[in-house]
Amino acid sequence: MLEHLRNLVNLQEVDAKIHRLKKERQEIPEKLNDLEKELEKANLGYTEQKARLIEVQRDHKIKEQALDDEEENLKKWQKRLLEIKNTREYVALQREIESQKRSNSQREEEILLMLEEIEVLGKNVALLEESYKELEKKRDSEKAAVEQKIIEIDKEVQRLDKERRERLSKVEPELLAKYEHIRDRRAGIGVALVRDGHCLACMMGLPPQLYNELMRYDAVHTCPSCGRILVWEGKGKTAIHLQDQTAKGLEENVEKNDDKSN
Ligand SMILES: [Zn+2]
Repeated sequence: MLEHLRNLVNLQEVDAKIHRLKKERQEIPEKLNDLEKELEKANLGYTEQKARLIEVQRDHKIKEQALDDEEENLKKWQKRLLEIKNTREYVALQREIESQKRSNSQREEEILLMLEEIEVLGKNVALLEESYKELEKKRDSEKAAVEQKIIEIDKEVQRLDKERRERLSKVEPELLAKYEHIRDRRAGIGVALVRDGHCLACMMGLPPQLYNELMRYDAVHTCPSCGRILVWEGKGKTAIHLQDQTAKGLEENVEKNDDKSN
């Protein structure tokens, strides 16, 4: 039985690696998606400010043209004023001129404010454009890195699949069926090592009687808490190792996947 269990643990080791890599590969598009969203937001901010800038620039031009026209009129009126003999007409035109002057100076103030806004908007647009381009660069390089990473992961999974087939062929069929059944439902981990009376997958303390039986390696037992096949890790040279199993990252995944299935 010990040899059967040892072969099973060997299989679990390679399965855990495959499981971890596949999960990592799954998460890659999510990360890229986040960057893509950030980029979209940056683009929106830039586009909005740019549109506002164009709008203010256009209004400024219109206002400046109007002011030019008014100034031109004013000159004409002033010229006419010199030619008027009638006092009443003279006073009326003079009043008109004064009113136009006030309106023009108000327009000038508005134009100045617009110029200030154009300056501020121009700076903003330049900054937003720069940060958008930087983000775009980041996205592109991240994308390239991710594509490379996917190639590497696929290659590694392919290699591990081959190794898996080799290890799998050594596992006793009935034990294998039980293992696969548990593994399907327990996020890729079907067998758990036992250390100091605890299941290392779920950290549950095992009843002493069960622990004693496990140390004899004469039957297949499962964890009363998580349901995984239990293998006492043993001691010294014959100790059984299962590196990936107690890794924190994998444990977290197990919990997360358990939550999903509930
Ligand atoms: Zn357990």
